[in-house]
Amino acid sequence: MYIHYILQEGGHAVRDPNRVGVRLFQRMINWIYPQPDSCLLCGMAVFRRGRLPCRLCLRCESMFTFLDKDAICEGCGRLWLHSQGMPGGSIDGSKNSICPDCCRRGKTYLTYSRSAATYNETMKELIARYKFRGDRKLAPILAAFLIYAWNKHYKTENKESKESKGICDKSHLPRIDLITYVPLHDSRLHERTFNQAEELARLLGAAVGVPVAGLLEKVRATEKQSHKNRQGRLHALDHTLRYRSDYADRAGTLADCTMSSENRISEAKNTRTIVIVDDIYTTGSTLNEAAYVLKHGIPEAKIYGLTVAR
Ligand SMILES: [Zn+2]
Ligand SMILES: [Zn+2]
Repeated sequence: MYIHYILQEGGHAVRDPNRVGVRLFQRMINWIYPQPDSCLLCGMAVFRRGRLPCRLCLRCESMFTFLDKDAICEGCGRLWLHSQGMPGGSIDGSKNSICPDCCRRGKTYLTYSRSAATYNETMKELIARYKFRGDRKLAPILAAFLIYAWNKHYKTENKESKESKGICDKSHLPRIDLITYVPLHDSRLHERTFNQAEELARLLGAAVGVPVAGLLEKVRATEKQSHKNRQGRLHALDHTLRYRSDYADRAGTLADCTMSSENRISEAKNTRTIVIVDDIYTTGSTLNEAAYVLKHGIPEAKIYGLTVAR
């Protein structure tokens, strides 16, 4: 995938940032003849937006496979066609709606998890550039996937809005009190310089108006998942996470920076519904462990998952 970012000249990327004259000329032209926004991935002009709330052209957006609500596993949110008659189970025993992985999993502490898109080659490249090569300019695109999935699966407000009116009944959706994220161990944070799940959770929280708090901490680094077989990954709890009862996290506090730590603890105790954000759902073991730890910290809470890719 080719990705250009900054300067555009007639829809083509200008690679030399020193061409100040060209930039000034372009700005003047843009002022006289306003240009459409340019795509964050390919740099071409965006004349019409697709489903994501960010500047992405339809061609780039079409390279992703979105997870539609009526063809997903009710547990983990993966692409799952119930009508195929493949082995599976169900939450209430009434229909074949849970994928084999969810059936095989031991105890799950998540009410359910949802993701925006499949982990195809384009998504793999996008996440790798952002997460491992530190291309932070991609954060708004990944956050847009989360916002898209949030609006589909967790947004309960504005029931009379154009989006929800007469199209789908959202009354069954949970009202989310708080967003949290999968933490990184300090050694990994030092290596990577940022926690991708935290950055994306904060962008999501700001966009949907729900407070974000670092309720979890990683107490020891995890053995690389690839070292375990799939069955082991499905069932194992690594016990590497801990609930932060103080949760005065790096970026501040819950919603109110002036809140005392006692108030913050009581606010957390009153929290009933929490969404845990991560970039990828692979086997679900990370989110399941995060939910397990949160349940011990806040026993009454219902825990949901939300990831960019599944
Ligand atoms: Zn594009
Ligand atoms: Zn599933």
